[in-house]
Order: sequence, then C-alpha cells, then structure tokens
Amino acid sequence: MVLGASIAGLAAASVLSRHFDSVVVVDKDIPGETPKPRRGVPQGTHVHGLQPRAAILLDTFLPGVTDTLIAAGAVSIDFGTKMRSFLADGWVPGRPMGRETLSLTRPFLEHHVRAHAEQIDNVTFAWGHRARRLAGSESRVTGVVCEHEGVEHAFDAGLVVDASGRGTRAGAWLRDLGYGELRKSSVFIDVRYVTCNYTRPPDDLSGVIVRHYPHCKLGAALLPVENDQWLLSLSGRFGVYARKDHEGFMASAAELPIPDVHDMLSGRPATTPVTAYNFAHNQLRHYEAMQRLPSGFVAIGDSALALNPLYGQGMTSALAQAELLGNTLSELLEDGATDAATVSAEFIPRQAEFLAEPWRRALLGDTIFSEAHGDLPGNLDEIRARDAALAAVAAEDREVAKLLAQVTQFAAPAAELARPEIVRRVDEKLAGNVAAD
Ligand SMILES: Cc1cc2nc3c(=O)[nH]c(=O)nc-3n(C[C@H](O)[C@H](O)[C@H](O)COP(=O)(O)OP(=O)(O)OC[C@H]3O[C@@H](n4cnc5c(N)ncnc54)[C@H](O)[C@@H]3O)c2cc1C
Repeated sequence: MVLGASIAGLAAASVLSRHFDSVVVVDKDIPGETPKPRRGVPQGTHVHGLQPRAAILLDTFLPGVTDTLIAAGAVSIDFGTKMRSFLADGWVPGRPMGRETLSLTRPFLEHHVRAHAEQIDNVTFAWGHRARRLAGSESRVTGVVCEHEGVEHAFDAGLVVDASGRGTRAGAWLRDLGYGELRKSSVFIDVRYVTCNYTRPPDDLSGVIVRHYPHCKLGAALLPVENDQWLLSLSGRFGVYARKDHEGFMASAAELPIPDVHDMLSGRPATTPVTAYNFAHNQLRHYEAMQRLPSGFVAIGDSALALNPLYGQGMTSALAQAELLGNTLSELLEDGATDAATVSAEFIPRQAEFLAEPWRRALLGDTIFSEAHGDLPGNLDEIRARDAALAAVAAEDREVAKLLAQVTQFAAPAAELARPEIVRRVDEKLAGNVAAD
C-alpha cells in the first residue's frame, strides 16, 4: 500500500508494481480530469523545476512519460542558455548545458505522471481515502485504516509505504503501535513563496532566476511553462516577502535587484490568482533511530526529508528514494526473501545514509543566513571548510567535478566522495589553507 498519490507515491507505486501482485494507492484528494492545483499539494501552484535526473528517473519508472509531457506542451529548453541567473551582484555567465530541461507547472506534471501510473495493471487507486492510522502491532505493521466519506475502511498490506508528504502523521501512528518516538531534526529557514502566472508570447522561451544572498532576501524564478504562460514565483526570506495581491506582487517584482523580471511581465494579463506558501523548516525524520524499526513500513519523499524548496530537489530526492526502495527489494528477492516486511530493516538504514548528504548540503546553503537556526551540527565550520576544499579540488579536476555533480544530483552515492584519493587531496587543501592563514 502507498499512502499519498503525489510524486513520491506515484513513483513508489510503479516500483512496487514490479515486485508485488497488487499495489493500492490511497490519497485523501480526488484529482480532477484536467491539470489543476489540489488541496493535498498546496505547494503545487509554485515553481517546480524538474531536474534532468528527475526526468530520467520518471522515465525509468513510467516509460514514455517525458515524451507525453513534451507532446502535451511542456517547454523543453537548455536552461544554461535560456535561463539567465543573477547571483549576489551580477549575472552568472550562461553556457550551454548540452541537454534540455522540461519547464512546466506542477499540476500539469502530476496529471501526466498519474495518468501513466494509472495504466499499470496491478496498481489501483482509492481516491478520497484519508489514512487515519496504521494497523498492526509492535512486531509489524500490517495495513492502514482509511476514512472515506465518513466511514472507516481497513486495508491489509504486506508493506506500507508512507508518501503523504511533510505533514505526515506516521510518527504518531508508529508511537501508538509501540515503536517509540520518531525523532525529527529541524532547522528554521523561513522561505515564503508568492506566485502568479502570466501570458507569454509563444516564441519567447526565456526565463530569469534571481538567487538569494544574505543582502538579497527576495529572489525570483520566472519560467516559461505550458499553455504560453510565464510562471513567476517570488521567494522571500526572513521578513522580506512579496506582496499577495496582483498589484502588490508586481510592485514586489520591481524591488528585485534587476528590472528584467518586472519588465518582461509588465502589461501582461495574469492567468491565475496570486498564491502564497510558507516553508518554515528543513525537516529530516530519523526512522533509523526508532526504538524498533517498524517492520512492514517505510516512508519516502517529503515524509522522510523535506528541504528548502529553493534547492529545487524535492522531487528528485523522492524519485531517488523510490529507486533505492526498488533496488533494495530486488536484492532481497534475489537473496530469497519471501516476507515483504523484511525490506524495512534493509531500506531504512540505507535511506538514512542516503539522506544525510542532501541534509548536510542544505544546512551549508541555509546557514549563510545568520537567522537560520535549529538542529545544527556543532562542527558546522569544519564541515563548511571541508566542503570548500572539496570544491577547490573539483575546480582543478574534471573527474572530481563530475562526481561531485552526480552526488548533488542524487546520481551517485556520497560515499564515492570519500575515496582515499579524494580525501587525501581535500586534506592537503585544508592543510594549505591553514598554513596560508
Ligand atoms: C513552494 C515549493 C516549491 C517547490 N519546488 C520544487 C522544485 O522546484 N523542484 C522539486 O523537485 N521540488 C520542489 N518542491 C518539493 C516538492 O513539492 C516535493 O518534494 C515533492 O512533491 C515530493 O513530495 P511528496 O510526494 O513526498 O509529498 P507531497 O507532494 O506533499 O504529496 C503528499 C500526498 O499525500 C496525500 N496525503 C497527505 N496526507 C494523506 C493522508 N492522511 N491520507 C491519504 N493521502 C494523504 C496528499 O493529498 C498528497 O497527494 C517544492 C516544494 C515547495 C513547498
């Protein structure tokens, strides 16, 4: 069973369908016939960049889905040349990335991903079903109790995958079954997105990104998306936020450090209301540290790790976790496992190791703002210095640069960067820096 039919849930369903006779996906929402924002995904109106790695994983799980997205009108562009990026005090020089990235709205993406998942024979969907609690005991989770139109329904399951997002209630549900407390690391990062879509000239596929910096707390992402629209998300930090009415929103765009975003949209009709979403904390749930690992249960996507949306990685992270779940299941089956519940003991520690790297990177990114606070490691300065030394090694060595890019895009495990040869060179850089100081 999968709880939640958003990106993590749909990916999980397709992975599980290769290993189980039957997969049931429940979601509290009932999706519409056409792409529309929905209550269960309140972040859905805001900019959702689909990283190249995410597109590759989607196509692996649901073959042909990116072709469908392009045929349906997703904008396919080389972000390196079409998206101009402003950081701190200047434009970042553009250079071709050599590959196209899909630019689209989140409801449009989810609509087509869901349509592909609905084609899988052994996957069924129970819409309008809200998971209320887990069934089972302290020795294993055996299913889920859902509420549908005011009536409770119990579903049995060999494995329950929670993909119900960052507001998941799984911690309380597991505690009620006797698994103890679910610890959560949390760092206050205060991001507020305010978004509106506008008409776009069909042949203008350009966009602009204004990145945050301590002296620039209002950023922007203006993306060309399907149906000849530009989507503009203004993202504010720590008290500097965009206004939430149409006129005020454009006035906020005019306050960006460059005039381009405002000028591109000036005089263009808005095609949506202005919406806002607050993302206060980075959150990492430590399922691996529970008193007992919940046999028959795993959590993926935002319900395990929810990071600052400005990194644009949430969907890639969710898809990479689904891939890890699939690989773990394959290995267990090859080893002759017959009980699906045993996957929890294998997957949960591997997932924790996997998520430690994006968590660490997010902390480094967010703590350039002195206002960020929470569960930060005591040796953050040391971690930052090592990270800078690694970047310096990567600047001199294309192979290390390639590996670093793969790790940051969830395409290679972080352990690859701990190869003795790389560690030695990082240590040398650090020693050199100390000597220079
Ligand atoms: C403002 C913002 C911008 C973002 N931009 C990007 C971006 O540019 N790129 C990117 O990769 N990521 C981005 N993300 C992150 C991305 O939205 C998520 O990481 C991604 O959707 C994966 O989430 P998920 O599937 O785990 O959960 P969600 O997308 O939150 O979905 C949870 C699902 O569970 C359902 N559900 C919840 N509770 C229950 C229940 N009790 N019973 C049944 N169903 C339930 C909901 O209806 C929903 O369908 C952004 C996030 C935010 C907040």
